[in-house]
Amino acid sequence: MEQVLITGGAGFIGSHFARRLLRADDVARVTVLDALTYAGSVENLGEAMLSPKLTFIRGDICDAQLVERLAQEHTAIVHFAAESHVDRSFYDTGSFLGTNVLGTYTLLEAARKAGVCRFVHVSTDEVYGPLLTGQAAETDPIRPSVPYAASKAASDLVALSYFQTFGVPVCVTRSSNNYGPRQHPEKIIPLFIARLLKGHRLTLHGRGQHVRNWLHVEDNCQGIELVLRAGTPGEVYNIGGGTDLTSKELTGLLLRMFDAGWDCVDYIPDRAANDLRYALNWSKIAALGYCPERGLEDGLAETADWYRRNPDRWAPLLRTAQPAVPAIPELIDHPV
Ligand code: NAD
Repeated sequence: MEQVLITGGAGFIGSHFARRLLRADDVARVTVLDALTYAGSVENLGEAMLSPKLTFIRGDICDAQLVERLAQEHTAIVHFAAESHVDRSFYDTGSFLGTNVLGTYTLLEAARKAGVCRFVHVSTDEVYGPLLTGQAAETDPIRPSVPYAASKAASDLVALSYFQTFGVPVCVTRSSNNYGPRQHPEKIIPLFIARLLKGHRLTLHGRGQHVRNWLHVEDNCQGIELVLRAGTPGEVYNIGGGTDLTSKELTGLLLRMFDAGWDCVDYIPDRAANDLRYALNWSKIAALGYCPERGLEDGLAETADWYRRNPDRWAPLLRTAQPAVPAIPELIDHPV
């Protein structure tokens, strides 16, 4: 099929996607462009780095000259590169706007000049903001609460405007929370697994009441590939279908998996603007043939197993993964 440029392909989801695309017989060439920030590592690509179909380039999506040259050499772009951690967006907002908004604009300009055939912009359900009931559909308004989600929402709008204005064949995907092997331990599932493996305490925001849909990274990649191949330009596709859980229910599952008790859980003050609930309607992508395959308990067991077998990949990152916040003593030992 195509010569595909993947931005952010040394990060968590992008590296799973690059490995997946390399297995497709009709994909002739995959180039990963990644700045290798604290969140990226070529180790995420592992043995895929040996594939003759893969070229890895360390570079910044804000580098217009570089991305213009790369866009000329590829027929499709799948854009994952981003600052992706909500907590960091509270104290380093400029980096989120720089990479997520200006970086996306720089890529879109390059795609427009090169006349690429496909541009998949990978986004998040967080752009819809919190929902007390029901599920967000692609046509719903976007109401981001935090700087990370606002930067993604802005980039979604710029991307869609490049379809309307210039005819760049953009599709946008918005997925729920991903988990799986090789995720940076700043995110809740790998952080809790890493802490349980080390015998450290867990910390839950507020009362652990926040509801998220947990989607295995390979299911998200299945959806993104479908959109790359069969999405209609100018359209947005929600990708969900995992399991909805409060963070406390998720913690309960992980504790059981490690035979640990609630006595190792501390409750810490909730972070600012912590959206209570996200929920997605994903019937539109289901109509393209999307069907998530991984159950949460099996997916978590597989994920925990990867972290158990690869301590060298996450242990050095753990100390900086989450800022220390004082526990709320009265909430300790608060069972589900
Ligand atoms: P990640 O933080 O693991 O990876 C991001 C990658 O982008 C890293 O490899 C980093 O080095 C690279 N990068 C950052 N700035 C760059 C720049 N200026 N130029 C080039 N490369 C740069 O993120 P992830 O969890 O894999 O998320 C990938 C995409 O999916 C993001 O756009 C994110 O918003 C979106 N998303 C993530 C989730 C999730 O649960 N993780 C859910 C929905 C959507």
